[in-house]
Amino acid sequence: ATPTALMVGVGRGGQLGILIKGPDALEASGVIDTVVLDKTGTLTTGRMALERTVLAADGPVADAAELLALAAAVERHSEHPIARAITEAAHAAEVAEGETAHAAGLAGPEGRVDLAGAITEAGALPGQGVRARLERDGVVSEILIGTPALMAAEGTVLPADIAKALEAATADGRTGVVLALDGRVAGAFVVSDRIKESAAGAVARLKAMGLRTVLLTGDHEVAARAVGESVGVDEVIAEVLPTDKAATIERLQAEGRRVAMVGDGINDAAALATANLGLAVVTGTDVAMKSADIILVRKSLDVVPDSIALSRRTLRTIR
Ligand code: ADP
Ligand code: MG
Repeated sequence: ATPTALMVGVGRGGQLGILIKGPDALEASGVIDTVVLDKTGTLTTGRMALERTVLAADGPVADAAELLALAAAVERHSEHPIARAITEAAHAAEVAEGETAHAAGLAGPEGRVDLAGAITEAGALPGQGVRARLERDGVVSEILIGTPALMAAEGTVLPADIAKALEAATADGRTGVVLALDGRVAGAFVVSDRIKESAAGAVARLKAMGLRTVLLTGDHEVAARAVGESVGVDEVIAEVLPTDKAATIERLQAEGRRVAMVGDGINDAAALATANLGLAVVTGTDVAMKSADIILVRKSLDVVPDSIALSRRTLRTIR
């Protein structure tokens, strides 16, 4: 390989919004045959919005406003896009409630604000949710918020109304998370994300280039399949914990595949580092930047096929 051609390739990448860390990365991307794409933040915008709050009919929480306030008090401790959707919605609801109370000459939702202080411990369960300790009026309870799979693992049974609401939500690609208080389901939240406009086109181009495309996510199987179908990937691998994403890449490599992983670095830094080629989309964290070989700074996902095409062209020039 002539270093000059590689350096030209790296330079050309820069003009296309593709930051290639070195000649090795360029060479690696010329030989890959499989592209694994993370869902949240990569194929989707990762800017989630709360669509529905579902209160369990016979649950431990009396009203939907309190349910949302409880969830927000917990999610303040998480940086997940779902956490942001819930805290933003709760804040908007509090403001609205405060205004209504003010107009009626009443006090605002101070009781709700106190909930934040009532959360005395909170810990993220990566790819699953958050577990927290609630201390209210001297009574300590455990709050768990996260995937239906997490609830099942904890032995928490979903009541029929909540299970039904979640089923409806995931069927069209939305994500549902459950809130349980001391092992009793209080309700659920349905959040939606938007598939990037460029996603289906970019996947089609990758396939036309002869590459196998795989969607890899920690999200629910049904929701993941809905997204996978709408963007046209060849395969969907869902309900994979962050710690198992790298192992999934290794399994594909063991099957003889040379894998590029595209992620935003939230929960997929190890997978980016394990892949033959790691591509980080620009919204990614510092961790992702370090684990990636190529940084994609253009918003459109077209930058993925662009970078692989560029590498192939560069390698052809050399050989
Ligand atoms: P992805 O692989 O799509 O990036 P993650 O691995 O980040 O997804 O998360 C997988 C699932 O775990 C989410 O779809 C959600 O159901 C659950 N989850 C993760 N973090 C949280 C949180 N802070 N609150 C509620 N649910 C969460
Ligand atoms: Mg992600």
